Amino acid sequence: MSDALLDTLEAELGAGGVLTGEAAAEKAVSGWSRIGSPIAVVRPSSTEEVSAVLRLCNEARQPITPWGGKTGLVHGIFSNDMIALSLERMDQIEEVDPLGKTLTAEAGCILQTACEAAEEHDLLLPLDLGARGSAMLGGVISTNAGGNRVVKYGMMRDMVLGLEAVLADGTVISSMNHLIKNNTGYDLKQLFIGSEGTLGVVTRAVVRLRQMPHSQDTAWIGVDSFDALPRLLRHLDKGLAGNLSAFEVMWKEYVDLVTNAPALGRSPLQETWPLYVLVEQQGGEQEADSARFEEVLMQAMEQGMIADAAIAKSQAERNAMWELRDDVGQTSRNWPIYNYDVSLRIPHMEHYVEQVRAAVTAEWPEKGTLTVFGHMGDGNLHLIAGVPDRTPETKKRLNEIIYGPLRALGGSVSAEHGIGIEKRDYLSWSRSESEVGLMRLLKATLDPNGILNPGKVL
Ligand SMILES: Cc1cc2nc3c(=O)[nH]c(=O)nc-3n(C[C@H](O)[C@H](O)[C@H](O)COP(=O)(O)OP(=O)(O)OC[C@H]3O[C@@H](n4cnc5c(N)ncnc54)[C@H](O)[C@@H]3O)c2cc1C
Repeated sequence: MSDALLDTLEAELGAGGVLTGEAAAEKAVSGWSRIGSPIAVVRPSSTEEVSAVLRLCNEARQPITPWGGKTGLVHGIFSNDMIALSLERMDQIEEVDPLGKTLTAEAGCILQTACEAAEEHDLLLPLDLGARGSAMLGGVISTNAGGNRVVKYGMMRDMVLGLEAVLADGTVISSMNHLIKNNTGYDLKQLFIGSEGTLGVVTRAVVRLRQMPHSQDTAWIGVDSFDALPRLLRHLDKGLAGNLSAFEVMWKEYVDLVTNAPALGRSPLQETWPLYVLVEQQGGEQEADSARFEEVLMQAMEQGMIADAAIAKSQAERNAMWELRDDVGQTSRNWPIYNYDVSLRIPHMEHYVEQVRAAVTAEWPEKGTLTVFGHMGDGNLHLIAGVPDRTPETKKRLNEIIYGPLRALGGSVSAEHGIGIEKRDYLSWSRSESEVGLMRLLKATLDPNGILNPGKVL
């Protein structure tokens, strides 16, 4: 890259707008993603500046990678030999509209900050995930993040009403729609939601807010066979009349890890079971909702869907249940490990998990382990496989074991984390040739010089 481009970018962005050398290396740190060594980190402060950066990079054919909170799990921010475009200086909340129930903010706004701004108006921004304190609005939009409450509120795609994005040549597409209903032609925002920074840089967004729930009920449930789970999900969905907000399933191996030392958590149940579910409902009237919650769980127990259950009696007990579900770090006790995030239809899950487990232990009889949990209400499982080493050969074999069966089942190699670099070779295992062809056509049309996040997704 020519020094002239860096000089022009510096002149365009002013003091602190372009970091190189040690200052850039200090920013190129992520606990979750491979990030490489960017040539420079540019930090625009406005959409106009993002536009200028992209126009200049496009003219110079200089590849560029957008960075949000750097918590993505598929290495979408990998920036070796590229310029990294950090949205961190574009973090303003522009408006919360309590009547229209919308929040408008810049893409660098931290998710948790946006959620707290909504809460001040007794409103809910329903996206809830472990990375909430670092992930940015632009990042969760660009990865179409899911998280813990998809069963009730959908994924990020379902929460974005409008957005503003900058194309590779610097063109600003302002689609800051605030309306719930707007069928005027193609829904352009969808191009940028979930496309992981390959089609444009998201700079601002309008997010739909919901009424803040004022009741919450949480239970930790033991289940003695997989058969009971889909019936239980259906029963709760129906019985809780639209209030079911989480149905998180954990296989026994996961719960053993998070409830035994050195883990700090302890099981809310006395006995152990093959499967566990963390169930939550959110509604409007605590007393009535809690009574219905208990009644619906009791019915499920009488009908043999639940073997044992503990209902949280305080916020501390509720937090403790969620801490067990979120203590994913305990799975590193099986190190070396690899994490997977797949989707498949619920009736296929039990056989799929047993098939993968058998293949992992047959392949690596000494070290092979499989720990499974996930957002089962959304058909989304997280699989963590323990293997003897983290060599490329082991990874490739494991990918075949885990992704292979999904092809026949119509499953997805990525439920919510995206494709990035990590799953690029397997995109065609979940998408047809014509679908991938159309994706390539869109990419070539919007970014003909291939400067935007090259090497990711396609
Ligand atoms: C502890 C933890 C828990 C998680 N839990 C979940 C979960 O439950 N559900 C889930 O779906 N995901 C989860 N994730 C992963 C999730 O994808 C990210 O947390 C989040 O969506 C990424 O946001 P970010 O701002 O960190 O983006 P980054 O990691 O910075 O970027 C992610 C991708 O988006 C692109 N990008 C970033 N900003 C922009 C922008 N403004 N315009 C265009 N492209 C952009 C990047 O180039 C990259 O390809 C989790 C991650 C962690 C670390």
